[in-house]
Amino acid sequence: MKEQDLTIHNPTGLHARPAKVFVNTAKQYKSDIRVQHGSKKANAKSLISMLTLGVECGSEIRLIVDGADEEEALAALVTAVADGLGEDHHAPEETAVPSTAPANGQQAVPSPTAVLPANVIKGIPAAPGIAIGPIYHLQHEEITIDETFRGASVEEEALQKALDRARGQLVTLHKQMVQSTSASEAAIFEVHQEILEDPDLLDAVLERIHKQQSAARAWQVTIDARAKAMAALNDPLLAGRAADIQDVGYRVLRLLMGGDEQQVSLPDHPIILVAADLSPSDTASLDRGKILGFCTAAGGPTAHSAIIARALSLPAVVSAGTAVLDIANLTPVILNGSDGTLTINPDAAAVAQAQAQQQSWQAAMSRAAATAGEPAITQDDHRVEVVANIGGLKDAQKAATAGAEGVGLLRTEFLFLERTEAPTELEQFEVYRDVVQALNGQPVIVRTLDIGGDKPLPYISVPPEANPFLGERGIRLCLNRPELLRQQLRAILRAAAFGPLRIMFPMVADLSEWRAARAMVAEIQAELGAPDVEVGIMIEVPSAALMADVFAQEVDFFSIGTNDLTQYTLAMDRMHPSLAGKSDGLHPAVLRLIARTVEAAHAHGKWVGVCGELGADPQAVPILVGLGVDELSVSVPSIPSVKAQIRGLTLTAAQTTAQEALACGTAVQVREMMPTAVS
Ligand code: PEP
Ligand code: MG
Repeated sequence: MKEQDLTIHNPTGLHARPAKVFVNTAKQYKSDIRVQHGSKKANAKSLISMLTLGVECGSEIRLIVDGADEEEALAALVTAVADGLGEDHHAPEETAVPSTAPANGQQAVPSPTAVLPANVIKGIPAAPGIAIGPIYHLQHEEITIDETFRGASVEEEALQKALDRARGQLVTLHKQMVQSTSASEAAIFEVHQEILEDPDLLDAVLERIHKQQSAARAWQVTIDARAKAMAALNDPLLAGRAADIQDVGYRVLRLLMGGDEQQVSLPDHPIILVAADLSPSDTASLDRGKILGFCTAAGGPTAHSAIIARALSLPAVVSAGTAVLDIANLTPVILNGSDGTLTINPDAAAVAQAQAQQQSWQAAMSRAAATAGEPAITQDDHRVEVVANIGGLKDAQKAATAGAEGVGLLRTEFLFLERTEAPTELEQFEVYRDVVQALNGQPVIVRTLDIGGDKPLPYISVPPEANPFLGERGIRLCLNRPELLRQQLRAILRAAAFGPLRIMFPMVADLSEWRAARAMVAEIQAELGAPDVEVGIMIEVPSAALMADVFAQEVDFFSIGTNDLTQYTLAMDRMHPSLAGKSDGLHPAVLRLIARTVEAAHAHGKWVGVCGELGADPQAVPILVGLGVDELSVSVPSIPSVKAQIRGLTLTAAQTTAQEALACGTAVQVREMMPTAVS
């Protein structure tokens, strides 16, 4: 047996990430390894017991190693501790903060420029407006436990299955988070995997099963006990870890009880929702009536959760860093979706100022709403169509009453997202038909399935991709699965009998893709005897914009997807938090591609829309109008304000502005020459 005393120098002690490195090092050796801290002792291979030691910076621990490889094990652990256990001692990455004083909240800010008060966390503005209220962390429904004991081997097998599936979910979540944010933000899901494999925890659960408890009961009781023990240490950092144990516990419990889909539960009063990130299905399952706004640790302004926030008129801040996850539930905050800040425990003066801003924002919105039904005609008589981006029937009904002159983008993937299997042709037909009918004769552009990238589908397996945004996405995926596309086109073309409908293909990068998709439409039209419809493409890949003059000879229309066009032109992931500020659709490179597309289309008598988020950006509207864009397709709540803004413009001045913007060197210069948004 070998023993050695060591001092821990990690700034926040042995918290989750360094403890994970310590435990992983210990696990590589066969010897029994114990760690003593004061009167407490822990198994060095169990993350939970190591965390429960509550080792702080400067504390001494004793390593007690016993076994065949004790010397190597001790040496490896001593070296790991001396190397900082994966942390740079001078720049700790810990994100957990005391709930009332987020001292390091600004650490998580993607690119801090201004010095902010200590109670303000800065993220990225994702949907304008101001919300004042208590925060609430995304939580899920209570689960009823099955107490029936079916025999130890059955219970053990059920537990093992649930653990395996939970591990699979966590691996996927980790991968997605690495891609959408960063490896350090994603590391929490590795900690969750570690909790799942904790030997002490599993021993305790198995012991209960052998005492004739059902796997679900044994798991729940053990998790609760571990989480409570950790919370009782009264250390805000460890309280965060207790929440992690509960989170993993819930995941496994849900699987044990045969559930899978996440169920979100909210209190019975309005709240500002806080979450690590919101998947499109999370966002879709929320009770919108109770949410004043939301703030996510990860995500970017063109991520689909942010798009949904704008569609719901919810102020939203994204990419605020994991510090927001450690603010205590129900803490009062001001969420400013226009400047991207979250003010924790604001004083009376800050609340009064926010209320005043909220009122003037609402007044401007109601002025615009009063004239929403009128067309958007510039002072010198140039009309721009303003249509809606929608995700389904509910949005279609709202669009019809919010002044939309049609639908410029029906994102059909939302029909496919909240389910475990693909909707049938009939189900799809019924939705498309109802949407067309809801628009009372106004045209509806149905975009075919745009899956892949940040929108994976559980029932369509795509082999893991290193760069999903550059992988099998949109039309590529559909052409590789022609039955999926064929079924959707049949449903769309059947619905075309009920009102004016157009078809649009996403992510077209090559003429051959357009031709293959167009040919399938013609084939199905002949098969069904369906009416002729306009068929167009999205311009969201630079190759399509550069080849617009060729496409324009064949397509009926273009709609520019500035979210993706910006990401692919600037080579900046649209969900990347630290690039979000730079990934700007007003970059002159993007504007030049838009200008080129419009010119090519008009030369062939075709029209061009913009359906990316840029279309509703008040600084972009005059430029897009000046570049000759014929239609702006924006989220439903933006329709009145975009129309109001167009009515205040003249085409000639907008054209001059557009030319000036094209001549700028950077997006910052373009923004500097444009008046700032009223908020
Ligand atoms: C776009 O890329 O601009 C677009 C409208 O499509 P989505 O955001 O659905 O990818
Ligand atoms: Mg797109």
